[in-house]
Amino acid sequence: MNKADNVTSLKALQAWKSIPQQLRDKLVRNVFCGNCSGAVEIVDYSIREEKHALLLTGKCRTCASPVARVVEND
Ligand SMILES: [Zn+2]
Repeated sequence: MNKADNVTSLKALQAWKSIPQQLRDKLVRNVFCGNCSGAVEIVDYSIREEKHALLLTGKCRTCASPVARVVEND
């Protein structure tokens, strides 16, 4: 992973902010962590724009393992 992967672009941030707050809260609290074997909250995350989705990459709140979540954004 190069350094640029960890940067939240303004465009990605705007797309993320366009999602209702309630839904965003739900999304960040329902990320699968392989280490915890369950749904956890993602913290210290950055947002990237993919073709038809946003990609959140960050850390598990419980164990600090790297976790990621794809959010459909059509
Ligand atoms: Zn975890």
